[in-house]
Amino acid sequence: MVLSLKLVLDYGKQLSRRNRWLTQWGKVSLGGAIAFSSLSLLAAVETNAYIQDPVKVGVYPGPPKVFWNDQGEPAGFFPDVIQEIARLEGWTLEYVSCQWPDCLAAVEAGELDLMLDVSYSQQRDAQFDFNREVLFPSWSVIYARPGIKIHSVLDLHKKRIAVLENGIQYEALQVTTKEFGIEPIFVQSPAYEEMFQILERGEIDGVVVNRFYPTHQHLTNAVKTNVLIKPDQVHFAAPEGDPDGLLLAIDRHLAVMKNESSSVYYQAGEDWLEGIDIHKTDWLLISRLAAISGTTLLASFSGILFFVNRRLKREISDRIAAQDQLRHKALYDSLTKLPNRHFLLTRLADRLSSDHQTAPVKGSVMFLDLDRFKAINDSLGHASGDQLLIEMAERLKQTGHWVARLGGDEFVIILDDITDPFNVFQAAEAVLATLQSPCILNNHEVIVTGSLGIVIGFDAYADPSNLLRDADIAMYWSKASGRNGYAVFTEKMRALAAEKLDLENELRRALFRQELILHYQPILGLKDRGLIGFEALIRWQHPDRGLLSPGTFIPLAEDTGLIVPLGWWVLETACRQLKQWQTHGIHNEHLTVNVNVSAAQLNQADFLEKLDHILATTELSGSSLVIEITESLLINNLSGTCQLLQNLRDRSIGISIDDFGTGYSSFGSLHQLPITNLKIDRSFINRVEDHVRNQDIVKTIIMLAHQLGVIATAEGIESEEQHLLLKALGCDLGQGYLFDRPQPAERLKHWLKHPVGELR
Ligand code: C2E
Ligand code: MG
Ligand code: MG
Repeated sequence: MVLSLKLVLDYGKQLSRRNRWLTQWGKVSLGGAIAFSSLSLLAAVETNAYIQDPVKVGVYPGPPKVFWNDQGEPAGFFPDVIQEIARLEGWTLEYVSCQWPDCLAAVEAGELDLMLDVSYSQQRDAQFDFNREVLFPSWSVIYARPGIKIHSVLDLHKKRIAVLENGIQYEALQVTTKEFGIEPIFVQSPAYEEMFQILERGEIDGVVVNRFYPTHQHLTNAVKTNVLIKPDQVHFAAPEGDPDGLLLAIDRHLAVMKNESSSVYYQAGEDWLEGIDIHKTDWLLISRLAAISGTTLLASFSGILFFVNRRLKREISDRIAAQDQLRHKALYDSLTKLPNRHFLLTRLADRLSSDHQTAPVKGSVMFLDLDRFKAINDSLGHASGDQLLIEMAERLKQTGHWVARLGGDEFVIILDDITDPFNVFQAAEAVLATLQSPCILNNHEVIVTGSLGIVIGFDAYADPSNLLRDADIAMYWSKASGRNGYAVFTEKMRALAAEKLDLENELRRALFRQELILHYQPILGLKDRGLIGFEALIRWQHPDRGLLSPGTFIPLAEDTGLIVPLGWWVLETACRQLKQWQTHGIHNEHLTVNVNVSAAQLNQADFLEKLDHILATTELSGSSLVIEITESLLINNLSGTCQLLQNLRDRSIGISIDDFGTGYSSFGSLHQLPITNLKIDRSFINRVEDHVRNQDIVKTIIMLAHQLGVIATAEGIESEEQHLLLKALGCDLGQGYLFDRPQPAERLKHWLKHPVGELR
């Protein structure tokens, strides 16, 4: 009832404005209208009011919806429909030719009574009255000049795009592009025809045109893009307040027409618009409900129209929402909701662009990589890793700068307008500080640090990818110099990075060119100085740079994943070498070879399979092999590693923890691991004789090893003094320059005659 009354009131209001046309009703006041029953209102509407003056209708060149044909008569969908309504209502139509913006202005000024083909917008709602019935849903499409790539709204940046003057698309495009910091150069034009002419002349890159226009034109020099703009609803419009009451009559006829598939409305749709694709069920709904007769018919009917309009509106707004969602997906990272790489590159391109009408925007860029993120991810699980990234993203947002996530644990921060080094460093320190406050993940308190690479000032760059590349280089520099800090990019860094890249390519080739070789260093029993085995240590016989030690290329191999094929080569070569020594009867079968294996290699799914294959083809027994792993492998994935080590022990392969004491493995968890050897890091052996603290550490590690029932080995023994001391401390095995340096296999022959040592 409330709804009915409201609608009656609304129609009453419209009726009151019709007094010029309703001769038999005389003057109907608003108060009078409220007093009418719904039935009397219906009667008023149904009455054939006749028209004294012709209805002035604006016709603009918008084929196929409305235009002047070759005979100088109005043609198209709208003229067909309005002529039918005029026939039924007894109106005389007077068509007035105008360009789109002038037509609109004339309706607003009351110089035209009716305008065809007007899309609804809130702004226009304040200028005109719209009929309630939607004629059909519509949208616009971008057509591009051949050769111009426009795949999304983002591609419109700096492109010259023609839009209809006062067109609804112009309004919509301005909002959308502004939202993403994209700046098309809009060229306003009063007519579509002119827009395509200037496109053909190459003066613009694209045009925004109603979806129907190109269906009736032969556009040879324009390419349809997939970019659709502004779904909307097309109506008739009259001057504000609809002083002639035209819209009410139009709606009444439209509702009936839409209900009959043979009506002029559908015929005009077929003739001009390739059929009307308005939601059919809506009209079914109307027809069913409209069948309800009685005093409330008009009210309910109006209610249904209102309802259908709302449904259509909702459908269209759903479509807009879906589009927005897609756009959001394309530009934002789904985990952290920060802008993504694509958005970042667009924004940077905008900053760097030299064809700005105003001066280019100044600023600096910081490339952030979280330190040891992988360790957190591996040890606390990926869900915690994700949670950490979300938390860090949130903190970075709080800094007030524009932040994007590049992927993984990499972020980029744009410091708009900041180019003064002092201010840049202040911003960098603020970023590092905000990362460092403790974060609770999965009930663990975690402190995260980050490394920043900074490029101060964009001026020297034309390409955003180069800017990011340099910030990335500086970030690596910062990581290499101890993490939790920042480094400013310099040209020297780029040269060194290029050198590193060369080295990477050369290392790839080195594997195939057989430039890699193994040296072997003897390992002795400290009690009797008898030979236990050898450690295989890789070298690179570089064609220009000479013999390179592993320190110069192993980190690079680890970074690039080359460590895996390299590691397999080492393992196979070392096993084959030992087998050769054994089979030639030069030494006994207890001799072992120690091989350093990287975490990346060990984590390969087919590690055991490949290892078995090597042992089988070289015919080496598992007990002749000792695998050296580092402590970091243990902290990252204790349970997984434990199982793998057990599989190795099942093959009688020895397991040595290398460089023990430098990592973070918890002593508590060591007893769970099926290891056979602890190898004390060289840094503790160095000056162990006169360095009390080192002595204490060495003593502790030896005790720990023995408690665990494993062998203690000291590496880097350089003096007799160190040897004696370690022996006195109970260390079982040792290797070092005192005994011999790592050597190629052929130079170790004399060692093979050496007495066999005791393990303990
Ligand atoms: P590591 O496994 O701890 O190897 C011991 C390192 O100490 C070797 O360095 C060896 O030459 C050096 N060394 C032995 N005795 C002495 C000594 O008395 N004084 C001094 N100053 N140094 C001594 P190298 O050959 O340069 O290898 C360095 C590291 O590179 C190795 O440390 C190991 O972590 C890695 N590496 C070597 N070969 C391989 C490999 O095939 N695979 C993998 N993944 N890593 C390898
Ligand atoms: Mg080693
Ligand atoms: Mg070592």
